[in-house]
Amino acid sequence: MSTNSLKKLLTAVDRWYRRHGRKLPWRIGPAERDAGETPDPYLVWLSEVMLQQTTIPHATPYFDAFRKRWPTVQKLAKASWDDVSASWAGLGYYSRARNLHACAKAVAELGGFPQDAASLRQLPGIGPYTAAAIASIAFDERVAPVDGNIERVVSRLHAIGSDGTEAGWRAAKQVISAHAQALVNALPKNHRAGDLAQALMDLGATVCTPKNPNCLICPLAEFCEARAQGDPERYPVKAEKKATPTRHGSAFVLLRNDEVLLIRRPPSGLLGGMMMPPTSAWSEAKPEDPLGEAPGKFAWNHIGEVRHVFTHFALKLTVYRAEVIARPKVHGEWLTHEAALAALPTVGRKAVALALGGARPR
Ligand code: SF4
Repeated sequence: MSTNSLKKLLTAVDRWYRRHGRKLPWRIGPAERDAGETPDPYLVWLSEVMLQQTTIPHATPYFDAFRKRWPTVQKLAKASWDDVSASWAGLGYYSRARNLHACAKAVAELGGFPQDAASLRQLPGIGPYTAAAIASIAFDERVAPVDGNIERVVSRLHAIGSDGTEAGWRAAKQVISAHAQALVNALPKNHRAGDLAQALMDLGATVCTPKNPNCLICPLAEFCEARAQGDPERYPVKAEKKATPTRHGSAFVLLRNDEVLLIRRPPSGLLGGMMMPPTSAWSEAKPEDPLGEAPGKFAWNHIGEVRHVFTHFALKLTVYRAEVIARPKVHGEWLTHEAALAALPTVGRKAVALALGGARPR
């Protein structure tokens, strides 16, 4: 693309963003930026971590609750892990909550967020995308964050395909990133890198959608190679997904009056540091003795099954319930039903809710 076309494209995107950009609780829009407001890196970071693997409508109430309870990174750093993990419950991917807490502590110790992507990457839980997003949005560093929306927009803009294999898609992603960076590099001096990144994210979310992109109202239309080819939906050409394997296990919900027994999982690994009802190990083969790893010889009743999908596998937990009168000598903590449901990650909440009589998890 010629320098002149690039300049026209960037001006069209900026104009579109000023008129049609989304209003988001963590965002400082272009008009506010013009008036001198600056983004709060803490809020940018918090939103980016929450939005990994989930949608804006799902993440927004969590974002609002975190911001209200811990308005600064220093306050979040001082919070207890129990409070952070309970507030995170329902957002999934608990390693992110652990990293979030560790990162808040590291940033508080540093006295604030580093302002460039390379330094941000040194912090717990901050990978290349998140580092670039924070550096770009909060500090206007001229780096290109490439999320799923930007990936789609840029792959269509330049008609970047692949052969649909893992290796082909990896190579295509590098080309897409290079083109995204070229757009940032071409920004006129008076344009903000953060505005461009957020404009491209918004374009991907609202105009250049996976299905039925609305090319008629797109500011990139006159520059877009995929549109010129007549079939923009064929981009990006990702690697075909492998079937998700299923693992099986048992969950043991032990009740006493209005209390339920929970254990804290080891700090590392899946659901690390989270409260859960005791479970067996999870394996691809169905267990021969589903009660073999129960936390005691109680009158376990088979209640049913819950399913939960993690990133790399689906989990089928067979739920057993037993009730006791006196507190038995078993490892774990007794929490009221209400406190347990609030503290549990989604999969644990599904199992406990089922054992409590079908109360629906959030
Ligand atoms: S013209 Fe169409 S395909 Fe191209 S970027 Fe815009 S919406 Fe996407």
